[in-house]
Amino acid sequence: MQILDGKKLAKKIEQEVEFETKEFKEKTGRVPGLAVILVGNDPASATYVGMKKKACDRVGFYSVTHEMPEDISQEAIEETIKMMNKNPNIDGILIQLPLPKHIDTTKLLELVDPGKDVDGFHPYNVGRLTTGLDGFVPCTPLGVMHLLDEYDINVQGKNCCVVGASNIVGKPMASLLLNANATVEICHIYTDDLKEHTKNADMVFVGTGVINLIKEDMVKDGVVIVDIGINKTEDGKIVGDVDFEKVSKKASYITPVPGGVGPMTIAMLLSNTLKAAKLHSKEH
Ligand code: NAD
Repeated sequence: MQILDGKKLAKKIEQEVEFETKEFKEKTGRVPGLAVILVGNDPASATYVGMKKKACDRVGFYSVTHEMPEDISQEAIEETIKMMNKNPNIDGILIQLPLPKHIDTTKLLELVDPGKDVDGFHPYNVGRLTTGLDGFVPCTPLGVMHLLDEYDINVQGKNCCVVGASNIVGKPMASLLLNANATVEICHIYTDDLKEHTKNADMVFVGTGVINLIKEDMVKDGVVIVDIGINKTEDGKIVGDVDFEKVSKKASYITPVPGGVGPMTIAMLLSNTLKAAKLHSKEH
């Protein structure tokens, strides 16, 4: 069994982004800029935003966080997005999810300029991904593809089971795998007998938020396991969706949690923001 070390690869990608940022600055006289919208007091969201900001600082990006109270109006967030769309110092706009219930998330995501949509959540970029065109791809599944690539794991012709079908994890993961010629199955909460689907898969990609959802009897020998879940146990430990101890004994490759997909997500956010900055510099 080999560990897919996302922490190590993310560090390597970060160094590349830092180097390219210096080059970009020399050429254009400016640095890539990321604007983050953080609404409310959710501690997990605040932690993620803090990590993203620190990563921006490390590679030399400009970043700004718009912190807004829980009871902020839809209109006020929309105004901020419109402002960021016009701001030439901002290349990427990220709305930290989830948002409070009274906010129409879809409307906000659709308001982001697709050329600044570094999270890849705008329907324009979603459409480009499903049709196999270049665009902005959601950071988490994009990070998974980079991680597989780093370890020369080819998905072409492989039976890939994606467990979890959200717009930010499961669906784009499935699209990327399909675009890379894998045979893809998508399972979710309403899937009848999950094991029937996972046990025949060459690779299992799981992002559900359910601790120990994938157990050893649900996978075949030699399986590649990508655990996208991030969960906190009662004693405060961070774990994924896979029973790592037992499943890793059957796997050929497996991502740890933490240190697997998580760091790759942040690395991809940096690389998407740099990509956006390069596109914008060509436009001007
Ligand atoms: P979500 O709640 O939007 O979606 C969860 C998906 O899992 C749904 O499609 C649901 O049908 C499915 N699901 C739930 N319970 C299931 C079950 N028992 N069996 C089969 N399918 C089930 O969540 P999300 O935003 O997609 O996040 C999923 C997980 O991934 C969470 O743990 C989240 O913290 C983690 N996550 C990690 C990263 C990262 O950087 N590694 C990024 C985003 C999300």
